[in-house]
Amino acid sequence: MINSRADRLTLDGYGLTSQRSRERMVEQLQEMGIQATAVLAAMRQIPRHLFVDEALASRAYENSALPIGHGQTISQPYIVARMSEVVCHQQPQKLLEIGTGCGYQTAVLASICPEVLTIERLKPLFDRARATLRQLKIDNAYLRHGDGYEGWERYAPYDAIVVTAAPEAIPEALLWQLSEGGRLVLPVGKEEQHLVAITRHGDSFSEESLNAVKFVPMLSGTR
Ligand code: SAH
Repeated sequence: MINSRADRLTLDGYGLTSQRSRERMVEQLQEMGIQATAVLAAMRQIPRHLFVDEALASRAYENSALPIGHGQTISQPYIVARMSEVVCHQQPQKLLEIGTGCGYQTAVLASICPEVLTIERLKPLFDRARATLRQLKIDNAYLRHGDGYEGWERYAPYDAIVVTAAPEAIPEALLWQLSEGGRLVLPVGKEEQHLVAITRHGDSFSEESLNAVKFVPMLSGTR
């Protein structure tokens, strides 16, 4: 509860009070079963409130998705943690994210992986995410305005691919951009969606179904 001046969220990004809110958020993630130390450490550090509009900053550390404009959302912290955990135990060196959105998950991934490439189809979100990541001096995330359905062939293969919008079926191009043993995690489905993790073994792939989820749809083309 925000009941004193000292408890108020500070908006400079490094305030003690937002640090306390993040500690509480991380404790909640641990209670929900997130164990990966690198993910918890990243989420303890990254100022999630700087990725949302100022008017929503006081809600930035609740475990919920929030609007970021253009009909899109910043994913719920638990989902960001879960997806990051699924890919991070293999210590990926190069990771591709589809659906930069506000860039929060990009920041989390850039803290656990040396090289992150990320694609966003909506130009205003791409521009804003780039500015926020620059402000936070995150220099190992490479942003592209484009359609993620085709992946990013030029820099493939990737040890991990994280998709943060839901296609109705798994985009095939992404499978072939995985490195040997590489992992793709994505929500799949329309009304009913599931988080799916796919691992590459040569020319075949194994699939594991994880949590039921609710993501914005993955759409074709750019705007
Ligand atoms: N990881 C983000 C989640 C943003 S919501 C965060 O933490 O904020 C999903 C994002 O995927 C939206 O910004 C949406 O515009 C984008 N998206 C949807 N379809 C896409 C596509 N085909 N290629 C790239 N981005 C896409």
